[in-house]
Amino acid sequence: MERKKVKELLSGPVIGEEVLVKGWVRTRRGNKNISFIALNDGSTINNIQVVADMSRFDESQLRDITTGACIAVTGILVESQGQGQNVEINANSIELYGKCDQETYPLQKKGHSMEFLREHAHLRFRTNTFSAVFRIRHAMAFAIHKYFNDKGFFYLHTPIITGSDAEGAGEMFRVTTLEPGNPPRNEQGEIDYTRDFFGKPTNLTVSGQLEGELGALALGEIYTFGPTFRAENSNTPRHLAEFWMIEPEMAFYDLKDNMDLAEDFLKYLIRYALDNCSDDLKFLNSMIDKGLLERLNFVVSNEFVRLTYTEAVGILTSASRKWEFPVGWGRDLQAEHERYLVEEHFKRPVILINYPKEIKAFYMKQNDDGKTVKAMDVLFPGIGEIIGGSQREEDYGKLMNRIQELGLPEKDLWWYLETRKFGTAPHSGFGLGFERMILFMTGMSNIRDVIPFPRTPRNAEF
Ligand code: ATP
Ligand code: MN
Repeated sequence: MERKKVKELLSGPVIGEEVLVKGWVRTRRGNKNISFIALNDGSTINNIQVVADMSRFDESQLRDITTGACIAVTGILVESQGQGQNVEINANSIELYGKCDQETYPLQKKGHSMEFLREHAHLRFRTNTFSAVFRIRHAMAFAIHKYFNDKGFFYLHTPIITGSDAEGAGEMFRVTTLEPGNPPRNEQGEIDYTRDFFGKPTNLTVSGQLEGELGALALGEIYTFGPTFRAENSNTPRHLAEFWMIEPEMAFYDLKDNMDLAEDFLKYLIRYALDNCSDDLKFLNSMIDKGLLERLNFVVSNEFVRLTYTEAVGILTSASRKWEFPVGWGRDLQAEHERYLVEEHFKRPVILINYPKEIKAFYMKQNDDGKTVKAMDVLFPGIGEIIGGSQREEDYGKLMNRIQELGLPEKDLWWYLETRKFGTAPHSGFGLGFERMILFMTGMSNIRDVIPFPRTPRNAEF
């Protein structure tokens, strides 16, 4: 018999049919006449109830069917007499795939802390919360590809190992095959990277943007979606050392087009989740964050506020509030400032543009004021910065000036600079942090809980 998934049985049940289901036992209760097993196979947050008439099974057979055990059940699908479900399975036979020792199984009790579950990341998928989060994460990944594919963007795979350290987006992890204790050295006594695997120093990528631009300046509109690595020692609920980023890059888009795309894209993803993940969202709304659904609906149905960095600094300086980090024109905004603007001042998502050039990357298009660049950050409630992007400097001379002012290694960027010599074009793009998006979508409060196996300072378990 072909196995049926629980989701399928609950959504379009064929009453009276014999079915085969396989899954993990959530709970078993009952008495000496009858046993009720709540079975979950991961296809949905909902369990199917299996009813075992004790006259057909003996006690010893059922004894091992405990929380966490894995079983296969064949039986007849019937309308349920009990509360809380429409259908249930009257079991004819039960096969035990895997027992689950109740003395040592870490997850039998409910209400474990998030920290405890993080230490048991190999098992936390078994909980309602984490299975919901990872189903939503999957749906979002799928929706991202669908959104861009439907718009004619091409998915471009940019390298994970890079030889350029000019991106300036964060601290990098070195990639080398040299022996740490005894690397080859040159005459000056420095490590001789010409004898390393790639013949030069290499790192894990902090962003696919520079390579993404190369693609956009021929294919028109591209996006990347891949792992990104930053060795910054930031122990916050919003930073990972390994995270996933989506980076669209578009020829012929100016900053306004870039903002319009970012807003439309984020709203599309939220709407997709509301339409396709409603059971999981309802669960998270009741168990994790009571304001979740209201917030998601609010964000899809309201326009984002758009204002300049200079205006934002004005609002922050006149706010009657003690800041942990000082506010002033030229200083970067901290999470507390971003969240104040979004959560208290405007009470909706905000797109901030035209930042001082000193606090933004070299490739951003310079404004005529000589002080600011066409940067844009999208700020979200509960998160702060979710997207960072800009219109890119397409003028060879201006870009070169900025590279020299900042003392960046011009020779490593020869390929990037050539696009400005050979048919340059106005273009723009942005980076969305995938896990920050999943935080927003699920109402979870720590970024370590929306990626299956988080990598953070001093933690690379599993
Ligand atoms: P932040 O100021 O929050 O550290 P950033 O300005 O360094 O972020 P960008 O270089 O603009 O980030 O990266 C684009 C997006 O990638 C950010 O808007 C954010 O959503 C995400 N992101 C950046 N760093 C991290 C990280 N360490 N962990 C998870 N997501 C990140
Ligand atoms: Mn940023």
